[in-house]
Amino acid sequence: MLDSRSTLLNGNHSFPPFYACYLLRSRATVTSRITYIGSTPDPPRRIRQHNGQLTQGALKTSRFRPWEMQMIVYGFPSKLAALQFEYAWQRPEKTRHLREDTTDGQYGLLIKKDRERNMLNRKVAVVCALLALPPFSRLPLHVRFFNEDVQTLFESRRRDQAQGLPLSLSTILDLGGVAGDTGRRVATTPGVTAIDGPIDVEDYHFRDQVWQKLITLTSTPACLICGTQVDMQDHLSYSLCPVGGSCLATTHVDCLGADFVRGQPTLLPSHGQCPGCHEEVQWGEVIRSTYACKELHAAPTLRGTRKRQGQKGAVINSLSSAADLNSQPDPAPEEVNQDSSKPPMPKPKARRKPSRRKPSQAIDHKPGSSSSTGDI
Ligand SMILES: [Zn+2]
Ligand SMILES: [Zn+2]
Repeated sequence: MLDSRSTLLNGNHSFPPFYACYLLRSRATVTSRITYIGSTPDPPRRIRQHNGQLTQGALKTSRFRPWEMQMIVYGFPSKLAALQFEYAWQRPEKTRHLREDTTDGQYGLLIKKDRERNMLNRKVAVVCALLALPPFSRLPLHVRFFNEDVQTLFESRRRDQAQGLPLSLSTILDLGGVAGDTGRRVATTPGVTAIDGPIDVEDYHFRDQVWQKLITLTSTPACLICGTQVDMQDHLSYSLCPVGGSCLATTHVDCLGADFVRGQPTLLPSHGQCPGCHEEVQWGEVIRSTYACKELHAAPTLRGTRKRQGQKGAVINSLSSAADLNSQPDPAPEEVNQDSSKPPMPKPKARRKPSRRKPSQAIDHKPGSSSSTGDI
């Protein structure tokens, strides 16, 4: 299942707008605690496949239908990173990420191949531990719970484990469910485009924000760190400030990476300050911004289709008149299908209004029981 063919090094890599690892719980019986872990660029579609409403569902899960999506982890900077996380979550006893601290017993229980290994409590404990440890603690990840019970389990584990979760990790309780059809979502739930619709799997808000900044640039900017002009034809060499707002700080990716690790005992940048607005920036967001710029510059291969009539179309049209539009089309985006049932990514569509995607704390909702049996 793990796809080892990576396009990271062949120039065709693109940042998946959305790629999630998910936890399903069987609702075949009231007391069922059987779980399933997978990954997908489209959780609302994937749950329908698991439940047999769409073809090409995972055969493994046909026996314990119906399934309910309990939580997702998303924000991975690459499909490969998501698959690594999925693998570790599925098989904690095989992953090296939980091995290092087993001497003190902290993770010993998590990697036991006992009867509890596929049960909900254990799976929640494993994901909480993985999120707290490198390399995943360095990624700009988010957790979305679709059920209060699983959020409670997670928070309980979070309090008990010695290793804290990274400050950058945001958690959201979305009682609307992955499809937004439970009628329990509130208007302020981030990361959705409608109170009764599926979660936003295109991460459109972030990319739109970067695109708007990109077209605001009137001339090729100089790197704020080294002072030399960035090469806007070399798409992955520069980055625009990924923080929302008006900061147009542009840097070479290499310069910013070196700046982030200065004085640190690591060679891998994790986070640092934007040299323009001085806001804290996660390295993963820098890379996302870089890929967003690349995607917009790939406009020659995208322009002219009906899908481009939306917001991206408007941005592309504006950019077309800018002097810096690249005349050489980029290679086709990586197809990030993990299995044949998933749509290729990224393929931005003309959107409804953009989602309000912003880091947030868990949102308190009025108490209520977890979703009952049935599809979500
Ligand atoms: Zn520079
Ligand atoms: Zn900034």
